[in-house]
Amino acid sequence: MHNATIKSLSAELAAGKLSSVELTKHFLKRIKALNAKYNCFLTLDEEASLKQARAADQLRAAGSGRPLTGIPIAQQDSFCARGWLTTCGSRMLSNFVSPYDAHVVERLNAAGAVNLGKTNMDEFAMGSSSETSYYGPVRNPWDVNAVPGGSSGGSAAAVAARLAAGAIGTDTGGSIRQPAALSGICGLKPTYGVVSRYGMVAFASSLDQGGPMARTAEDLAVMMNVMAGFDARDSTSLEREREDYTRELGKPIEGMKIGLPKEFLAEGAAPGVVKAIEAAVAEFRRLGCETVEVSLPNMKLSVPVYYVLAPAEASSNLARYDGVRYGYRAPEYSDLADLYKKTRAQGFGEEVKRRILIGTYVLSHGYYDAYYIQAQKVRRLIARDFAEAFKRCDVIMGPTSPTTAFRIGEKAGDPVRMYLSDIYTIPANLAGLPGMSIPCGFDAKGLPVGLQIIGNYFAEAKMLNLAHQYQSATDWHMKAPPGIDLD
Ligand code: GLN
Repeated sequence: MHNATIKSLSAELAAGKLSSVELTKHFLKRIKALNAKYNCFLTLDEEASLKQARAADQLRAAGSGRPLTGIPIAQQDSFCARGWLTTCGSRMLSNFVSPYDAHVVERLNAAGAVNLGKTNMDEFAMGSSSETSYYGPVRNPWDVNAVPGGSSGGSAAAVAARLAAGAIGTDTGGSIRQPAALSGICGLKPTYGVVSRYGMVAFASSLDQGGPMARTAEDLAVMMNVMAGFDARDSTSLEREREDYTRELGKPIEGMKIGLPKEFLAEGAAPGVVKAIEAAVAEFRRLGCETVEVSLPNMKLSVPVYYVLAPAEASSNLARYDGVRYGYRAPEYSDLADLYKKTRAQGFGEEVKRRILIGTYVLSHGYYDAYYIQAQKVRRLIARDFAEAFKRCDVIMGPTSPTTAFRIGEKAGDPVRMYLSDIYTIPANLAGLPGMSIPCGFDAKGLPVGLQIIGNYFAEAKMLNLAHQYQSATDWHMKAPPGIDLD
């Protein structure tokens, strides 16, 4: 049952062939047996999960089941969930039990989904490998000596290892798409403002966006129907009519135009990645799509721009962790200034401190115009490049990540090399555009490759259908990591 998609589990629950209590117990049992191997879950609360499962079974019995009712979903530990430890992968929040639910969590609860547990991640979502977590690195189910990608690596590994049917994560510069690619699953970063950031631990607020991770595009669509929607508590939440993200699934895609940015393959993607992407594009041509070359001339500036803007926003967002109101507090200190210093020195890890330092620097008097303002201008240019490209195509396709999963420790000592892992994903965050990753093959080492689909604003339903059509014609998304028992 753990190999089934959300869609088929939902049908079994609806038909009364399976109860949510059975399903939840089954996943919890697997997690208990396998989590030591992958380190993808940080917190489980069996009683809380089973309580939700029992309530879901009652809803189904009363005839008020909805697609996610009774489905166990893993939650990245950056989403506040009432009564649950919410650490964001940091020592700073190692004792923080959230008194409230994030908007996304509220919506999942209202739909009757079961919170299966909180997943491991890079500290404060800063990273591309899930190695910066205070709670130790997550391991990739395809190769336990490799990283699962990050920052939502715990969620990605959980779905890949069949420890959860679906999961939620956040994407500031690629953290849903890149781990989805490296772990061989699907992930969607929606248009900025579509999913409320209320109760999502803030990293870089103008870039952060929550989204679904699952094994099929159809499942992502079902999750989006619950997760998306206006929320007055997030000032950047968009007030627009509700969408049914499944509405285009199955519509013909003949004649759709796929833009292939010439810069994408020029930017040093590994040969195994290029080969799989070319094969995927050929499959879309077979399915009737046309391809056109487009250009994103400023793409090469996206990593430097991101590493000015994201740390700037992070340095401001993370100022709240001072050891006074909540979270970690240094056990010994002399006065208030010393309390701040020691708490922050002990509570934050190296990568987080690096970002706070960079961010504080670029925002400081004298550097603000040279770095921060300049980066904002280039951000606009990158958004304009996309606007030009979308005059000529419906969606853009290319790799999600320049490489497949790398070894644990391989890039940990070289931040710039690590930052370059997000070269293909960061542009969509800077422009606020939706992007997704779906499995499209393997490299010579047998590690999964992800195809990235970037759409224009609010093109999620169209992108999900393209992915769905591809998944109806191929079976990359059905492949399981070696050694995963599928019965
Ligand atoms: N890897 C990028 C970073 O370290 C993106 C992280 C994210 O999307 N949360 O900032």
